[in-house]
Amino acid sequence: MIRFENVTKRYRGTKRPALSGVDFEVQRGEFVFLVGASGSGKSSCLQLILREETPSSGRVTVLGRDLKSIANRKVPYFRRNVGSVFQDFRLLPSKTVFQNVAFTLQVIGSSRGFIHQAVPEALELVGLAGKEKRLPHELSGGEQQRVAIARAIVNRPAIVLADEPTGNLDPGTSVDIMQLLARINAGGTTVLMATHEAAFVNQMQRRVIELRDGELVRDEVHGGYGDTSHVPTLEPAAVKGAAATAALTAVLEVQRQSAEAIADPATAEETAKAAASHAKAQEVPPVAETTPTTQEPDAPASAPEVDVAELGLADRLGLDAGDEEVGPTS
Ligand code: ADP
Ligand code: MG
Repeated sequence: MIRFENVTKRYRGTKRPALSGVDFEVQRGEFVFLVGASGSGKSSCLQLILREETPSSGRVTVLGRDLKSIANRKVPYFRRNVGSVFQDFRLLPSKTVFQNVAFTLQVIGSSRGFIHQAVPEALELVGLAGKEKRLPHELSGGEQQRVAIARAIVNRPAIVLADEPTGNLDPGTSVDIMQLLARINAGGTTVLMATHEAAFVNQMQRRVIELRDGELVRDEVHGGYGDTSHVPTLEPAAVKGAAATAALTAVLEVQRQSAEAIADPATAEETAKAAASHAKAQEVPPVAETTPTTQEPDAPASAPEVDVAELGLADRLGLDAGDEEVGPTS
């Protein structure tokens, strides 16, 4: 679904390549952490997948397409298959929650009927039902990131890329966002998340690809952030679905916190309670269908009532909606 073959990326005017000889393949439905210190090349990887950058050598294949073979004018159509979430949310500040999520669909020419069905569904999924009319500044950081996630998934992309999505959030909120991404993945969406937050990576025990100075130094199926010898061993391979993922996360959280509590007994009870409530909060139905919904061809889309130049989104999504679409091929 995503394949890097001997990918090297050199930015103009830099001595050392940002990525060198990187090889990996991500299968449909995987949840993959991309880890490594700041400057190790995580964002560069994600930018290559989005074709915001092109490799200096090597090949990047996404959804069966060699990205080099996609003409520049077709790139926006390709990108409709890939949702992205960033550390700084990147919401349109003067638009409501609903409008922020609807924007993606308006730009690609979805019908009004489809928008009014898909946007509330996406907001419901991320737990923001009832906040449609708020402006971004009227939301907490965690809520703003939920809006960004709703926007990333409203078009039912096959892949979601998240670049340090919890980087601006406090630890509790970060856990919620992490669990939301896990839930989206449990619905079948491939998720690739760049992070340098060791705790989540250790807890989740998902695949970990580690970069160091642009080189892939580790690719583990059920990895931790760094030295994993101390991480409790459960059997993640047997775990399937959102509820199981949540349960595993909660179990690992309790284990981690009880280990911490040995060091600081005062917090023991409190942390156990918190973990239990997280587990409970996860008793939600997994992401519904991930099969792309066909949009009704009638009911012409309303023109976007937004400044499309804002945040460069127009470029990312493409505006000449009459053109043919690049669909997933694998
Ligand atoms: P990470 O996301 O892991 O922090 P990046 O992919 O952002 O790493 O950066 C990897 C390396 O490439 C760093 O040395 C960074 O300075 C360099 N780099 C990233 N983007 C650019 C750019 N647009 N121009 C020049 N150098 C860049
Ligand atoms: Mg980065």
